[in-house]
Amino acid sequence: MLGVKLVTEPAREVDLLFTHFHMDHVFGFPFFAPIYTPGYQIRVFVPSFSEEEAMEKLGRYLNGVYHPTRLRELPAAVSWHPVRPGREYTLESGWRVTTAALNHPGGAIAYRLEAGGRSVAYVTDTAPFARPDEGVYAGNEPNSAEKRVLEFLAGCDTVVYDTMFDVDEYFEKMTWGHSYPEYAYALCKAAGVRHLVLFHHLPDATDDALDALALHWQSAADPVVTLAREGETIPVGRGA
Ligand SMILES: [Zn+2]
Ligand SMILES: [Zn+2]
Repeated sequence: MLGVKLVTEPAREVDLLFTHFHMDHVFGFPFFAPIYTPGYQIRVFVPSFSEEEAMEKLGRYLNGVYHPTRLRELPAAVSWHPVRPGREYTLESGWRVTTAALNHPGGAIAYRLEAGGRSVAYVTDTAPFARPDEGVYAGNEPNSAEKRVLEFLAGCDTVVYDTMFDVDEYFEKMTWGHSYPEYAYALCKAAGVRHLVLFHHLPDATDDALDALALHWQSAADPVVTLAREGETIPVGRGA
């Protein structure tokens, strides 16, 4: 629905940053209204090594098989940009973007965006970077993978973090590449984050279960914790 809202606004440029290619993260693209709107300039950033690979990885869903429209028929001007983890980019819109590798089957990239002294990071999909009895969650020194992520998140205003599981589900599915709120909180606290947004809720989580989760975290202050909701606008930075 974001795309439908965007096309009612005057701006005709958009940067799309993709983390990885699991279906729950890419299948919105063929239905994103701006790609069907003439005059739009859409820059698509994709984990890949080249412009061709970036185009192929996402464009395969617009090849006439999975969707009737083909990439070359799109009315908008779409350009493709390869992204690697552990790098820094400046978008044409002026945003500074840094990237980090996540702990997810097949890999995924986290993004940190900064502009005007405000910062927001999008960290999904990912499993914890340490076992539950090691690292920041256990109250110990971070291991090397955690150190890298702590540096990436240091002082960030708002962090949207993968918390698909609760602790018990995580122990059952440690290889699935998703985290739990207590780990996200420990990591964000250690990184000096101000606001943690719990995200990537379990697909079959009920509204009641998510309300209970929000209630459980509502008194957290360092960082503040809220749950991501569809259509929500989250203010970022001081005074937010
Ligand atoms: Zn995934
Ligand atoms: Zn996912």
